[in-house]
Amino acid sequence: MQYTEIMVRYGELSTKGKNRRVFINMLAANVRKALHEYPNLKIHADRDRMHLLLNGEDSQEIIPKLSHVFGIQNFSPAIRVEKDMAIIYQTACELVASVYEPGKTFKVNARRSDHDFPLDTNSLNREIGHVVLEAFPELVVQMKQPDIILRVEIRNNGAYLSCETIKGAGGLPVGSSGRGMLMLSGGIDSPVAGYLAMKRGVEIEAVHFASPPYTSEKALQKAKDLTVKLVPYVGSIQFMEVPFTEIQEEIKKHVPSGYLMTITRRMMLRITDEIREQRKGLAIINGESLGQVASQTLQSMIAINDVTHTPIIRPVVTMDKNEIIELAEKIDTFDLAIQPFEDCCTIFAPPQPKTKPKLDKAREYEQRLDVEGLVRRAISGIKVTEIRSGQRYLDGDAEEFSDLL
Ligand code: ATP
Ligand code: MG
Repeated sequence: MQYTEIMVRYGELSTKGKNRRVFINMLAANVRKALHEYPNLKIHADRDRMHLLLNGEDSQEIIPKLSHVFGIQNFSPAIRVEKDMAIIYQTACELVASVYEPGKTFKVNARRSDHDFPLDTNSLNREIGHVVLEAFPELVVQMKQPDIILRVEIRNNGAYLSCETIKGAGGLPVGSSGRGMLMLSGGIDSPVAGYLAMKRGVEIEAVHFASPPYTSEKALQKAKDLTVKLVPYVGSIQFMEVPFTEIQEEIKKHVPSGYLMTITRRMMLRITDEIREQRKGLAIINGESLGQVASQTLQSMIAINDVTHTPIIRPVVTMDKNEIIELAEKIDTFDLAIQPFEDCCTIFAPPQPKTKPKLDKAREYEQRLDVEGLVRRAISGIKVTEIRSGQRYLDGDAEEFSDLL
């Protein structure tokens, strides 16, 4: 079908009161970013809906990209034709033919905003329904939840027909909730956490701690590849690689093994918070899930969280591993995440970390380190990469990327 526009219905935006216009404009900007490769596309963002006028651009290419944009409830590719009943009948039959199977249920849902049009809504429903049923006698009319809803809208500038409603990504436009730093390891949980934070409107920047030569180039590439998977939801993501080797060596040297994990996490959180402040973020996001491993007990969280007052968003904290894996599969990060490249924590992890570390002990052991100097040196060695869609890092055919610092 040669569609002429895509009609987009907003998600929770409808509840945003006075901020509604701001949200709609942000969504329009995000749609524009996601579809920047289609210069002929025109976006009209009204109060209730957004219209993407295709101007010859290919709807089949655009649809999968649009379905990644948060803030959209659903959308329908539509055809605009002249307000001529013969043409409307013919187009209706063509549209139904593209989704028809014998035995499917069907109804027409007409609207008329052009009140000069001679047929009212009821007559439109009846007449168009009649023609379609003659063409497809095996369709079954059903008013409640039919398989096929043929929408016909008579507006001032033409008649719009569509018969497909495609589910959108839901959530809020990315950026509408501000910016947060995602602590991104190479594991299953943190990319899912990043996805869920973006879904609630948080624009993310990725912070990854690497400890070469203990951690390999492949582990770093894996973290970047995971970031690539999150890019379609935002357009681009700043990826920050923090050199963590010195800190891990120092911790290993001075801290009793039961507290290695706790102190390591405290240092990571401190550094992430410093980066957040410099980059005007409002929150930190991580992939902690309650009870999953020793460092993720509530006692552990108390001992680690101690280093900051910044809100920490833990989107997967109450999820079971299976639920997290399901989401990881949905956003296509699972296969990458299970590749066996060790990240810094695994390598320095003691065989038996304390599951109930004490806050005062953690503070005490940490005093054995030059915390300020270690943080300063790590921050000064950060490498920032802008990750955009379509880049691959793990296969060795990586494209060049630009250092922004
Ligand atoms: P993940 O699957 O995200 O690696 P995990 O279950 O392995 O999580 P931990 O290793 O305890 O859990 O890490 C908890 C959280 O700490 C991670 O979800 C991530 O947000 C953060 N984190 C751990 N290692 C790193 C790292 N090398 N760089 C950045 N963040 C990290
Ligand atoms: Mg991990």
